[in-house]
Amino acid sequence: MRKVFVGFPITSDFILSPEDSRHIVTVLRKRQGDRVPVTDAEGVTYECRIKKADSQQTLMEPLHRTGERPESAGRVILAAGLLKNDKFEWVVQKAAELGVSAIVPVQMEHCVVKLNDTRRKDRRLRWQRIAQEAAKQCGRNDIPDVTDVLSFTEVLDTYGTMPVIIPFEKETRPLRECCATVRTGDVVICIGPEGGFSDGEIAAASMREQCQTVSLGPRILRAETAAIASLAIIMYERGFK
Ligand code: SAH
Repeated sequence: MRKVFVGFPITSDFILSPEDSRHIVTVLRKRQGDRVPVTDAEGVTYECRIKKADSQQTLMEPLHRTGERPESAGRVILAAGLLKNDKFEWVVQKAAELGVSAIVPVQMEHCVVKLNDTRRKDRRLRWQRIAQEAAKQCGRNDIPDVTDVLSFTEVLDTYGTMPVIIPFEKETRPLRECCATVRTGDVVICIGPEGGFSDGEIAAASMREQCQTVSLGPRILRAETAAIASLAIIMYERGFK
């Protein structure tokens, strides 16, 4: 069953949103007295009993905790150059399934897609919804955050204190060699857009001690393949935590 999340801490009886109520009552055909696990804003899961089933506002009663907030073993953050719509959406969905904590859309110099402020807001909402759906579907206890669109420099300024792994097709040092760095703690993976990184971006990264460019092999992968392949490798190294 897909997970139900609520955006507040569960302390007493509460009402589900119309969307979740509809899902529980109409799709899953749950009735009064049935039990449903619900995860709250703090990542704690409660076994809850349906007090009143209603396809608009179902009333729930928390019975007991069944799961604690996920242990914080550090965050894996994916910063990815903007791609044409459906490709970026695909990356958001798969990255959420693989367990990233946050997805940072990056407006890089060689991005084919250029978003103005209004489109950035719309896209962010849409990507956030996709991340939430993917998290529910795969049984995560938390929802990855999709941040505002940042420039590459802003990514370095915001996340530059963490190790930033940059798969770069002109690098020869294999990702394997920096796996020890990514096994615990926070890590950022930064993937270029279809057009690749600009020389300026690579130069800016090379000035930062925390940034390392790595190779994913001799073949040039599509940006979305590179994103998901490197994430999967890093998650494997971290024991899929
Ligand atoms: N336009 C570029 C390729 C960009 S591929 C060119 O033709 O040269 C898109 C992104 O995927 C790259 O910016 C990089 O982050 C990643 N990528 C693709 N293949 C890679 C490889 N073999 N090693 C490391 N990163 C790779």
